[in-house]
Amino acid sequence: MISVENLVKTFPSRSGNVVALDGVSLEVPQGTVCGVVGQSGAGKSTLARCIALLEKPDSGAIRVDGTDLVRLNGADLRSARRQIALVEQEDILFEVRTVAGNVALPLEVARTARLERRARVLDLLDLVGLADKAAAYPDQLSRGERQRVAIARALVARPSVLVADDPTSALDKQTTAMVLGVLDRVRAELGVTVLIVTHDMEVLRRVCDRAAVLEHGRIIEHGSVLDLVTQTESRVAAMLLPEVSAVTEPGVGSGEASGSYDRVVDLILVGFAAVGALLPEATSRFRVNLALLGGGLTRLGETPVARFRIGLTGEHTNVTLDFISQHGGLVQPISRRH
Ligand code: ADP
Repeated sequence: MISVENLVKTFPSRSGNVVALDGVSLEVPQGTVCGVVGQSGAGKSTLARCIALLEKPDSGAIRVDGTDLVRLNGADLRSARRQIALVEQEDILFEVRTVAGNVALPLEVARTARLERRARVLDLLDLVGLADKAAAYPDQLSRGERQRVAIARALVARPSVLVADDPTSALDKQTTAMVLGVLDRVRAELGVTVLIVTHDMEVLRRVCDRAAVLEHGRIIEHGSVLDLVTQTESRVAAMLLPEVSAVTEPGVGSGEASGSYDRVVDLILVGFAAVGALLPEATSRFRVNLALLGGGLTRLGETPVARFRIGLTGEHTNVTLDFISQHGGLVQPISRRH
């Protein structure tokens, strides 16, 4: 488990100090993947570099399994560094070494016995889907393959934490999908705690259990991705969920739809039942006209999520909206705003 407490980091500049991290606190439970998002300059890379022990914060603590890494020196610091692996935007592979030779490097530094080294390198190359490229040289690889080699190398010494600083930023969509597949397997098979800086919503959608939003060096939102998307005001929800009315055609639920709605309800539905178009039916003591103004479906990891917008007209102080899925089942909305 990583626990960051009140981290402050400033950089000197000609016009005074730049506060890159302004009291950041964050927890990433063991074996989970936390995505860090935010505008450029928000402090994401600085946070990643501090956790990877490449940057020393001015104050605050970074605890991994209870030990405060900020206070370590000498041999303890070196040993902590081995526990935390870093993958950056552009991989740095040694061109004169083969793929297997690159992946083996951390084990050579740690003086791991040759037989074990071989076995672990092959294991990791297998995990990233490059077992057949073990003898190839980096210049024979595509960008995505190089990034996968970098991930294999970062993980070969069995670190407890992997910090990835925008690992897909230089990759096209198809290559990104391959790297995400690898990160998915890392999460499922290795139980490493991962902090991943990203600007790519596909990364949040596919591999992150948790998300943290940084703004001007502060965390403004932090929690499980599924919890965050069910909050209508959440930045993460706004980033991840499709714009309402972007996917489905506006349609009529029950009653007559009229051109103007004096109340619009945003609903977020999470779970299997959210798949498929939804027909809202209002039950009320009052007369209600209701129309499905639009909606969009997406997927977070394995979980389907939908955001729908419904327009209401008429008297509707106490409207209960029931959602009937395309397949006939009743769906409970997770969040609704009247
Ligand atoms: P992000 O990764 O979200 O784009 P960064 O962590 O790179 O943000 O930067 C946060 C702030 O800290 C920015 O204002 C940036 O200019 C400043 N900064 C980052 N690294 C340094 C550095 N080595 N020296 C001076 N300023 C820096």
